[in-house]
Amino acid sequence: MQAKIALFPLNNSPFSKELEIAKKEAEKTRHKMRHGALIIDKKRKIYLTGSNSPCDALTPFWILYSKCHPNSMRHAEISALAKTPCKNIMKIFNLKPMDILRGATVFTYRLSKTGVTGVSRPCPKICWPALKALGFKDAVYIARCNNELMVAREYF
Ligand SMILES: [Zn+2]
Repeated sequence: MQAKIALFPLNNSPFSKELEIAKKEAEKTRHKMRHGALIIDKKRKIYLTGSNSPCDALTPFWILYSKCHPNSMRHAEISALAKTPCKNIMKIFNLKPMDILRGATVFTYRLSKTGVTGVSRPCPKICWPALKALGFKDAVYIARCNNELMVAREYF
């Protein structure tokens, strides 16, 4: 049986390329905490990126999001999810497995204001349960282990 979490060295993981894309997303935001996310579907055909930058457009998606999560900023993972190419993006809020996202992987990266890499596991309150419910397979993020930053791959 596969372990639920696998750890890799920060600078030598099989996910360097994907984490680099997530990092670039994190660099786009001016928040104190800078988060970036990359979603890749099972067939590796769809790449969705997002950061925790503030809502620039009041689309129905973000209006509903702020109703569901008042006082919560726009999380990077949700920003990426909001770009899912499906007919009805509001289906994301049903939190039921979606074919297009089933078996997908999310990569997350976090930077401090000064650009220092930090722990980036999707938040346990909003993002983790949402990604799990939508049918994601695993998450790849920065973790701290024995005071050392590592890359973690965790299965939902
Ligand atoms: Zn979150």
